[in-house]
Amino acid sequence: MKNEKLKRKVLRLVEKALDFAEKTYPTNPARAIEAVKLAVRMAQKKRTRLPPQLRRKFCRKCFTPFVGPSTFSVRVRQEASPHVVVRCRVCGNFRRYRIVKRRVELFA
Ligand SMILES: [Zn+2]
Repeated sequence: MKNEKLKRKVLRLVEKALDFAEKTYPTNPARAIEAVKLAVRMAQKKRTRLPPQLRRKFCRKCFTPFVGPSTFSVRVRQEASPHVVVRCRVCGNFRRYRIVKRRVELFA
């Protein structure tokens, strides 16, 4: 129980730091990257897994926050397994996200 509370607190802090990074990046990229690093470190220290919407807000390699088209690109690939490719424009690192078809409930 207590652990849950702590994790929520950490997530709030992480969210705040990422928000700050997003706002700071256009004027001070170095500071924004430091804020992202701090956010990641906070989560790791408390062993909290970040929810996907937070995890995808920055580059996992160089910690650049993804703000605007100058920092990342998104491509949809229709191959054997359809996926989205998100590429960091700063270091070139990319991640693939599989597109999962939502199951249709026939007898709802
Ligand atoms: Zn990067």
